[in-house]
Amino acid sequence: MTLKLTIDTRAWRDHVKHVHEEFPGLVPVAKGNGYGLGLDVLAREAERLNSDCLAVGTAHEVATVREAGWSRDVIVLNPWRPFDETATALLDDPRVITVVSRLTDLDELRTTHPGTRVVVELMTSMRRHGITPQEIASVDAGKLGFEGWTMHLPLKGQLSEAKQLASEAVAHQRGAVWVSHLGVNDYRRFRTQLGVQTRMRMGTRLWLGAPQALRTTATVLDVHRVARGARYGYNQSRAPRDGWLVIVSGGTSHGIALSAPSPARSLRQRGVSLAQGVLDAAGVSRSPFSIAGRKRPFAEPPHMHASMVFVGGTSAGVEVGDEIPVTTRQTTTTCDELVWN
Ligand SMILES: *Cc1c(COP(=O)(O)O)cnc(C)c1O
Repeated sequence: MTLKLTIDTRAWRDHVKHVHEEFPGLVPVAKGNGYGLGLDVLAREAERLNSDCLAVGTAHEVATVREAGWSRDVIVLNPWRPFDETATALLDDPRVITVVSRLTDLDELRTTHPGTRVVVELMTSMRRHGITPQEIASVDAGKLGFEGWTMHLPLKGQLSEAKQLASEAVAHQRGAVWVSHLGVNDYRRFRTQLGVQTRMRMGTRLWLGAPQALRTTATVLDVHRVARGARYGYNQSRAPRDGWLVIVSGGTSHGIALSAPSPARSLRQRGVSLAQGVLDAAGVSRSPFSIAGRKRPFAEPPHMHASMVFVGGTSAGVEVGDEIPVTTRQTTTTCDELVWN
């Protein structure tokens, strides 16, 4: 009864290795659901790459990658806050690098935890975390282990912004510069022009950049014939026409039908949202499950571990035990089983 992720091991590892070589100083990011592969898997793959440092999202995730055997440096991407007890407990760990994004936090750490390895975050046009360019002159790492500067860039790599900020920061205090989301060429330029060590944090492009190497499938658990008007499901809805209820593995606990909001900017995207809105209004919602080459509508909202989809017509097109393709968003889906082919 599983949702399964099948990895074409060779193709996937070739891609990961290629990207790793393309970006000197790359720091693999293992956070959240481990990009659908799991934090433990990513920690072991980082080990295979012989990375010297792994980035995690939160202080809580440090324990998970340690349990998976990662024993080298870890950088916690979420900036430290005085009320985060888990992060505070890691300050004295010599293999943990802490991100500091406010002058007040830097002041506090300097007096309470000298020796902590820190990277100071600079505010970019992202406007998430970081000290402003005007504050750079006030940065005093004192007896802290200063490991450099970091910035989180918007998805469209902003080379000029990165260079401007980094050169101001490096002029104040020399150190490595950690970045994200620059393309290969921009990163190369950035690296050569800056003249300090650079570290590229990367998750999506590294782990998910070869989508053809990752395949998610569900198993058909039951197939029931229904006549038009027959009632079914928690909601006792009526079948819209003669057809089949196909019960498949994969439900809310796996993140099925959970979609991260995406910016609906282009007209085409708006058209898609509109079309989905019409479907929703009609009580028909397209599921990520494909049967006989077509995405089928949910017969009702997904259950915890299984989903009911509707197939109209005289043939269901599948039998119990068949595996069917599922289109998932890797960062919101967690499979029960990973198969390395
Ligand atoms: C998540 C994250 C990354 C990696 O982002 P991807 O788009 O998955 O490569 C890099 N830096 C920071 C600060 C992050 O939070």
